[in-house]
Amino acid sequence: MKSSSSMRSQPPAPGSRRSPRGPTAGSLRRRLLAWFDQNKRAMPWRGLHDPYRIWVSEVMLQQTQVATVIPYYERFVARFPTLESLARAQERDVLRLWAGLGYYARARNLMKAARQIVKQGGAIPGRFDQLLRLPGFGAYTAGAVASIAFGQRVACIDGNVIRVAARLLALPGDPRMGPPRRELEAAVSGWVDPHRPGDFNQALMELGATICLPATPRCHDCPLARVCRARRDGLENAIPPPRPSRTTPAEAVVGVCRERGRVLIARRPEGKRFAGLWEFPGGKVNAGESGPEALAREFMEELGIRIAVGREIAEIKHTYTRFRITLRAYEARRVAGVPRPIASAEIRWVPVSRLGEYAFPAANQKLIALIERS
Ligand code: SF4
Repeated sequence: MKSSSSMRSQPPAPGSRRSPRGPTAGSLRRRLLAWFDQNKRAMPWRGLHDPYRIWVSEVMLQQTQVATVIPYYERFVARFPTLESLARAQERDVLRLWAGLGYYARARNLMKAARQIVKQGGAIPGRFDQLLRLPGFGAYTAGAVASIAFGQRVACIDGNVIRVAARLLALPGDPRMGPPRRELEAAVSGWVDPHRPGDFNQALMELGATICLPATPRCHDCPLARVCRARRDGLENAIPPPRPSRTTPAEAVVGVCRERGRVLIARRPEGKRFAGLWEFPGGKVNAGESGPEALAREFMEELGIRIAVGREIAEIKHTYTRFRITLRAYEARRVAGVPRPIASAEIRWVPVSRLGEYAFPAANQKLIALIERS
């Protein structure tokens, strides 16, 4: 899993090759790259020099594991094989291919940046500072594209790299923020191999994903065990300190309203979370409301229709970055009124067999799978 935290530091001046508390850059590079050359996992974007495909893969990999990304990546580049094809795409087609990956702002920014690059001549810029000016490019993505596709010697620091580097340095404090974070960025920037910056960055991330695991680091298999300060001091399980929980619980209800073999869905309006995605009508449960009461209220407020709430079909729990949702789905039968999109961009009656053609947030997708089986 990758972090999208910002990282703007550049390599320290030549000569400052060793962090005050870390291993020397030379021994670390040698050990890490030799291990990577032998052990790197096959991925469809590995070995490519096409900056567009490297960029797409890196955007998908933010907050998402490799095994999940691979089929999405393959479908995406089959449908949009070039920057120009993405720049010409309809947003709803892009979102449909993205559905299930989450963090839809990533897909929108990918499109925006593609259009901006095409307007500016069609060549993806090759430098970290130029990439940072494009929509959706944070320090991680800019560092990944600049180093992997263009060979610029810059670091890219994701959650895996933070964990590995904090352990290599036996860094006290929370390495995700403040002075420890700055010390870590300076150290990692100094470690990046000047001849193979892209491989070095991928190797550090790969080590974090496969060996230096969060709960159970496999130090016995680690190529850096001899230079790791946390390992030397027996601190590998204590570094980094646990992240404080940022998720807040939320409760919501949705209604599956069917008529003549079709089910009613609504598209979320601009400016709202999950804008542009489709959903089953419903909303948050207010304090003191039962699920059916909340659902009847939401249908009236958002669609202008009165419903009879039927049996509960499913209870789905899903965790997004900042909140955990418990979503209860009920059967809903229209009793009075004609639905209209009062609080949504658009509504449609859709055959169940065609729900898969629409992009839904992840929690709704779990429900679709249940409806399709029922
Ligand atoms: S020795 Fe252990 S803690 Fe240190 S980098 Fe390797 S796996 Fe991580």
